[in-house]
Amino acid sequence: MALKPAFKDFTEQIPQGNIVLLAQAITLAESTRREDRTLAESLIEYFLPYTGRAIRIGITGVPGVGKSTFIEAFGKHLTSLKKRVAILAIDPSSAKTRGSILGDKTRMEELAKDPLAYIRPTATGAALGGVADRTREAMLLCEAAGFDVIIIETVGVGQSETAVRNMVDFFLLLMLPGAGDELQGIKKGIMEMADAIVINKADGDNNKLANQARTDFQYALHLFSLAESGWSPKVLTASSIERTGIAEVWELILEYSTFTNANGYFGLQRKQQDLAWFRESVQHLLTQRLVDRIEVRDAIKLMETQIMDKKILPSAAANKIVNTFLP
Ligand code: GDP
Repeated sequence: MALKPAFKDFTEQIPQGNIVLLAQAITLAESTRREDRTLAESLIEYFLPYTGRAIRIGITGVPGVGKSTFIEAFGKHLTSLKKRVAILAIDPSSAKTRGSILGDKTRMEELAKDPLAYIRPTATGAALGGVADRTREAMLLCEAAGFDVIIIETVGVGQSETAVRNMVDFFLLLMLPGAGDELQGIKKGIMEMADAIVINKADGDNNKLANQARTDFQYALHLFSLAESGWSPKVLTASSIERTGIAEVWELILEYSTFTNANGYFGLQRKQQDLAWFRESVQHLLTQRLVDRIEVRDAIKLMETQIMDKKILPSAAANKIVNTFLP
């Protein structure tokens, strides 16, 4: 077996764009072994000054809306402009169904073969929080490897949108022509997080419906209060199969970037995201430290029984646990 790469191999090779070592570093970050995680953390810390140069884009939408097809078209457009693109995913369902959104690379066949693109299948892990942290770390490693654009894909059905929104600069929601937002199972909260909506599948018979949807969604977005960024979200139409409207999405993202760099929001949002990441991690680690102790777990079980028997108020039970173990 080949020797495990050392710290120096990573620090020398990743900035050269060595994808094999990049992939190995991400695997270390995803590992549950403490020594792997420690190595990954010190690597990412080493690279920290070299991160942050990419534009980070989150893409969401219900299954079947065409996320993979869109990312293939969009990614190819970017590589045609000589941009290096990394594609990561957060898929909270993958642990259960074992069918991760990027697990099947054949869904982005052209991009998978493109030397300017790197597709990383979903990190698997128990909790969304853990998966989100690993994705952030993978993103930083990709930036250290010199990628210009990072795309993070997620399924538009649950909490993972918020996690992705909190790690990207620009959040894109894909929608279908000819169905209202309720029908598409997209919650208002997700629409509110979007910097742009792209009505995908605007081709053939769908063209008229797509234009109608564009007007409807643009109107719906006007009803939301102005975002902290000062940016008014835009609605575009595209066909990922015919590859029309794709260049316009990139143009819009550049426009957003120019706008938010000018008003200072671009950098501010990243700082806020880092602080939020830190605060969540502190909470997570503190909780983890506590529940790792067997006596705490036993006490929690006991409280749960008493709560179900209506012997103790849930908030009082929580107080009792914390006061006992963190006196
Ligand atoms: P995902 O589940 O959101 O990743 O969706 P996929 O990319 O797998 O696409 C779902 C289906 O929609 C596939 O059969 C695609 O061929 C089709 N599709 C995706 N984009 C378009 C498009 O722009 N136009 C049309 N007509 N079909 C599309």
